[in-house]
Order: sequence, then C-alpha cells, then structure tokens
Amino acid sequence: MTAPRIEIDLDKVEQNTRTLVDRLAPRGIDVTGVTKAVLGSPGVGAAMLRGGARGLGDSRVPNLARLAELVEPASRTLIRSPMLSQVDQVVGTAHVSFNTERTVLHGLDRAAKSQRRTHDVVLMVELGDLREGIATDDVAAAVRYVGSLHALRLVGLGTNLACQSGVVPDDRNMGVLSALVETVEATHGIRLDVVSGGNSANLDWASSTSSVGRVNDLRLGEAILLGVEPLHRTPVPGLATDVFRLVGEVIELAEKPSQPWGERAQAAFGAAAPRTGRSGSATVRQAIVALGRQDVDLDGLAPPAGIEILGMSSDHLVLDVGDHDVRVGDEITFGLAYGALVRAMTSPFVTKVELVGRPVVPRLRVLG
Ligand SMILES: *Cc1c(COP(=O)(O)O)cnc(C)c1O
Repeated sequence: MTAPRIEIDLDKVEQNTRTLVDRLAPRGIDVTGVTKAVLGSPGVGAAMLRGGARGLGDSRVPNLARLAELVEPASRTLIRSPMLSQVDQVVGTAHVSFNTERTVLHGLDRAAKSQRRTHDVVLMVELGDLREGIATDDVAAAVRYVGSLHALRLVGLGTNLACQSGVVPDDRNMGVLSALVETVEATHGIRLDVVSGGNSANLDWASSTSSVGRVNDLRLGEAILLGVEPLHRTPVPGLATDVFRLVGEVIELAEKPSQPWGERAQAAFGAAAPRTGRSGSATVRQAIVALGRQDVDLDGLAPPAGIEILGMSSDHLVLDVGDHDVRVGDEITFGLAYGALVRAMTSPFVTKVELVGRPVVPRLRVLG
C-alpha cells in the first residue's frame, strides 16, 4: 500500500460517537458530529451518524458539500460564520449556519429567497473566550433582526469556549446561555429548539454539573476523533484514542555518530534541536522515514515506544530506532494529536485510507 498514508478506523469513530451519545443522552444533550479535522469525509460522517449523532457540523463549505454526498439524509450545520462572499453556497449546502453579523444574515436571507428555501440560523453568543459571538446585551436586537428576514428561521442560540483563550465551560457561563434562551423565548414568544453549548471542551462540565440548564446540543470533533478532551488533552474514559494512524516508509537506515560535526548555523527550520538520542552512546541507529513537514506537524506526532524523533525537515523524518529491528522498506506507524492530524489530513501527499470492519486476515498459502 502507498506511503505516507493515514488510516482511519471508522468502526472506532462509530464506537466513540455511540459512547458519547449514550453518556450525554440521560442529560438531555444530543451530539452534532464535527468533521472539519477530516475535511468533511462522508465515510467519517456516516460513522458518526451510525453512532447516533443527531447531525453533522463543519466549518467549511467545501467540506459540507462533500457531506452532502451521504446517502443517509443528515442535518448539515456550518459552524463558522459564513463569508459574505459565500452566502449562496452556504444556503445551498448547509441547512443551518452559525451567525453573528447582520450583513451576513441579510446576505443569507437574499440568497435563500432567490433559491426559494428557508435557511436556519443559530446566533452565537460571546461568553468570554473572545472568538466569535454577539455580546449578550445585543442578542435581543439580533433576534429581532433575524425575525424581520423572512427566508431565515431562528432555531437557536449557541456559544463556543476554550478555543481562543482557553476559557473553561462551567455552570456560570453555561447558566448565562440558558438564561438568555429563556429571556429570548419569553420576550419574543418563540421556542428555541437548539441550544448548542460548545465543543469537546464542554464534556467535563456536561458530565459533572448538577444541571445542564437549557443546553441540549454539543458539537463534538476532537473527543470523537481522538478520544481526548481538549482542556487538558487527557483521554476520555471508554473512548478509543487510536482512530488514526499515520504510516511512513523507511528510506535509509544507518549507524551514525550521535553528534554532528563541522561549523554549525541554522537548520532547514531554524535552530537545530540538540540531538539527544539515547544519551551516552557514541552512535545512533538512525532511520529516515519519507515523511516531512509537508505531510505532518512535528507537534503531536507520536512514534512507537522505544523510538525517538531526532528531527524533521520538509521531507525527512529522522528517528533513533534504538534496538528495533528496522529495515529499509519497512513501515513505521505514528499516533497523531490534533495539530499533526490536521496537517496530515490537509496534505495532498498523504493518502487517506478509511477502514471498516475487522482487518482482513491474509491467507498463508494460495494452493492450486
Ligand atoms: C471546531 C469547532 C467545534 C468542535 O471542536 P472540538 O474541540 O473538535 O470538539 C465546535 N464548534 C465550533 C464553532 C468549532 O469551530
């Protein structure tokens, strides 16, 4: 099989989704599966839906267009504020979009009218993380504005924490969201069906709080895909943390001196990291894998036990393979954290392989 490649275990995506759906259901919270880290892969989206996700969300229109290829009908939500230049495509590919700007809402309304559709809107509220969101004091006016646009339908309120400033979802900020929902409903005589409390960083709060208030939806990407919660990057009990494997091929193997020689200046990506390797030994069993920064981010690339990363340039990953029996042509498998995953998924050089069902056991001999 071709290398480098990223293998995606769709059964584990489904299991992780189901585990989270089952955990949140007793609290009255549905899961929207977020596919942006896998570029809106329809295979991953379908696995999330099999696992019980209520719908799918993505931050980019082209990814939502890929999800539109799914056979099973699923609600598609654009979870980043639409670009004004893309309102036609947004109305065409997303059932719902998250919004904060009147100009954009106006554009969406015009686009929806010309396509003879109704487009659903969730207004995002700023609760302290200082990324997207309408100030709480301005929400009532924004609700009135959406009400004046006849091709748009306000379906809910949402918020996003932890991404820009690391603000932790807690009873206080989630309480503000729930109170806003009640105020809007009372003032405008409407019912808000969607109260989208946040992302994977909300999981701790959702499982430990005495009341989730009106929050009835979480948008989960990282927890489903990597099995970790993003506040401390600790594994979530019961979730698989090895949905993805990045596989690269060894192109050189040699016993090399542990330290470089010659006068030294900058390396390809700035100051060279000191070669640590196995400390004390005069030489290193060094393997080069045909993987570089054009394929994956060094940050979040996890080698197998007993193998150490010595450095990476555009096209070469240099490893100390220790006592492993590694040969040229062998494949080495790496685990991925979020940064490394996103780089690998967006690299045109990395083949994406989606695996379903149990691995095929090769026949030992073919007779006849
Ligand atoms: C990326 C994103 C999510 C999903 O975040 P995870 O930490 O991957 O669960 C949810 N909501 C918004 C607005 C996002 O941009």
